[in-house]
Amino acid sequence: MTDAFHPTTDNPLLATTGLPPFDRIEPAHVEPAVTAILSEAERWIASLEARLQEGETPTFENTIEELDDIGRPFERGWGPVSHLFSVKNSPALRKAYEAALPRIVDVGLRVKQSEVLYRAVKSLREGPEWEALPEARKRIVEQKLLSAELAGIGLSGERRTRFNEIAQELSKLSTDFSNRVLDATRAFSLVVTDPADSEGLPPSLRQLASQSYNEGRGKVRGIPADAPESTPDAGPWRFTLETPSFVPFMEHCRNRALRERMLRAYVTRASRGPHDNSEIIRRILQLRLERAKLLGYAHHADVSLAEKMAPSVAAVEEMFETLRTAAWASAERDMCELTEFAAQAGFTDELLHWDVGFWAERLREQRFEFTDEQLRPYFPLERVLHGLFGVAERVFGISVEPADGEAPVWHPDVRFFKVFDAESGVQLASFYLDPYSRPENKRGGAWMNDCLVRRRSDEGLQLPVAHLVCNSTPPVGKNPSLMTFREVETLFHEFGHGLQHMLTTVDDADAAGINGIEWDAVELPSQFMENWCYHRPTLLGMTAHYETGEPLPGELFEKIKAARTFRAGTGLLRQLQLGMTDIELHTTFDPHGDETPFDVQQRIWAKTSLLPMLSENRFLCGFTHIFAGGYSAGYYSYKWAEVLSADAFAAFEEAGLDDEAAIRETGRRFRDTVLSAGGGRHPMDVFKDFRSREPDPAALLRQFGLLDS
Ligand code: ZN
Repeated sequence: MTDAFHPTTDNPLLATTGLPPFDRIEPAHVEPAVTAILSEAERWIASLEARLQEGETPTFENTIEELDDIGRPFERGWGPVSHLFSVKNSPALRKAYEAALPRIVDVGLRVKQSEVLYRAVKSLREGPEWEALPEARKRIVEQKLLSAELAGIGLSGERRTRFNEIAQELSKLSTDFSNRVLDATRAFSLVVTDPADSEGLPPSLRQLASQSYNEGRGKVRGIPADAPESTPDAGPWRFTLETPSFVPFMEHCRNRALRERMLRAYVTRASRGPHDNSEIIRRILQLRLERAKLLGYAHHADVSLAEKMAPSVAAVEEMFETLRTAAWASAERDMCELTEFAAQAGFTDELLHWDVGFWAERLREQRFEFTDEQLRPYFPLERVLHGLFGVAERVFGISVEPADGEAPVWHPDVRFFKVFDAESGVQLASFYLDPYSRPENKRGGAWMNDCLVRRRSDEGLQLPVAHLVCNSTPPVGKNPSLMTFREVETLFHEFGHGLQHMLTTVDDADAAGINGIEWDAVELPSQFMENWCYHRPTLLGMTAHYETGEPLPGELFEKIKAARTFRAGTGLLRQLQLGMTDIELHTTFDPHGDETPFDVQQRIWAKTSLLPMLSENRFLCGFTHIFAGGYSAGYYSYKWAEVLSADAFAAFEEAGLDDEAAIRETGRRFRDTVLSAGGGRHPMDVFKDFRSREPDPAALLRQFGLLDS
């Protein structure tokens, strides 16, 4: 490309080849690099638009590929900045990042909203070249058109104006919604002063509640500024409706009346007074429906599904019903068992909403009590990695080799690995692993991100490079990093995403790896990989006590495995309740009619819970996923992807998990379909390529012990 930047520049963010020079990137590089990239991109976009307007016939090469070329300096210049923002934050970097972000967003919008580009892509769709385009390119074109159309580009005149007004109002309403949830959550607190009421509370909760009390002095009603300081042991303690406080409180507080107060406050959150979200909910539903109709859809759920794998609302509802029917009997057994258990422990009243969590936790303790501390010594990071890479080699025929020192890194703990095809020895990809928690400058959680995407261009083939970021326990003193079981599972999960990014065989960046994959399908390989942590020989094979070398005792493994299915039917019903309510509100519910959203909530509740709903329950008022997040008419995706991943793993179980040849053969097929197709083929077709049929929810039900095998 003649417009390429001058390669001799000193700014590491303007490098055009090789791996990002992470060791040289400084916050001071951000502003000049972004300015250079943006002005170049703007010039480039304008010249592309001008050529198209002057009558150049649109082709895949002169529109989509050209846009991809325009985006490449962002991959190398902005990608590392946003990565470092998450893993090596500093006040200077944050300042540079926040100043640049709106400019980056603007240029993205500029492309997305360009009518000239939209018309060019559209004429490509309708032109003579279309039939001859490979499947992946067809998908890229169609996705670009659809995303522009859902953003209103096909509308004109008053309809366009109205569409934009709706977008503005919805954006404000969703902010208001989440602010009210936050404010309502903050407005409530329960102060406990009697040490008798704190009996049985775990130390971490006492600590949190004591700290919360001290922070609340003079700021929270009922805690005067001159109140004596609280200590974790003696109190007073302040409990709130935030998850880290609310959940353990409900599980451990022995005072039933206090649990009742907490629960009633929780289920009425943001439903009264100044924080009441009821009207916002109705308004959001009205606007979403109106927008759907402007776009030519029957309702908002059809808009949401247009970009997803699930073929129709009916298909989603069918999945709901299959899972619900299977979960119901199991949830009934959970309830009977819990009632008996509580009775034996001397509790003879009826079990109510505020009792279930408490007694379930007692039952869990009695049955499979194990602590993170018991498991950790068996999971040193090195051993776990060895086990993980062993699975990758056995199942997918790839070998992972350490290549530390061959790539500049942002922290001495960061590792670098190369991935090869085990048979041919050809390199396929590479990845960074940033394993440990670093609270001082690294965001929490775990994620996989692309560093470089697979792309074939005039300059040859660019191999994919992934970022695997975890927040595992760092080494302490002379001890190696000892992981909790949850951390091990998380590593497998992110590695699964990484495999899909790295083993792609698609050469067009927009459809390579995880790019362009419908997001109700994107958790397939990640959740699939977690299953190996519950396969006895695999898991035991990657454990070795860091002092004695002993593998994890079999009985501990059995407890881990049993804990996975504990009260699974009850848990599944709760997830279905949220998903089904979401779908009904965005399909058949009429937001202008006499029924309220809470009538829908009530109706679905009756089908998904063994206890009758408390009449004041307004959980919708705090359902930020669908009213303030990206999950509207999409909450079902969690289960949809789980159905896929469980069914994919079932293919390995059917082949025989202990039959090495069968595992290799099935793994090869998984690699050649799910892991290689990327966004270049519809995920339903990809799934069928692998499984020779459509997904079957039975595998998920079996995995959670909800169906006899
Ligand atoms: Zn994930």
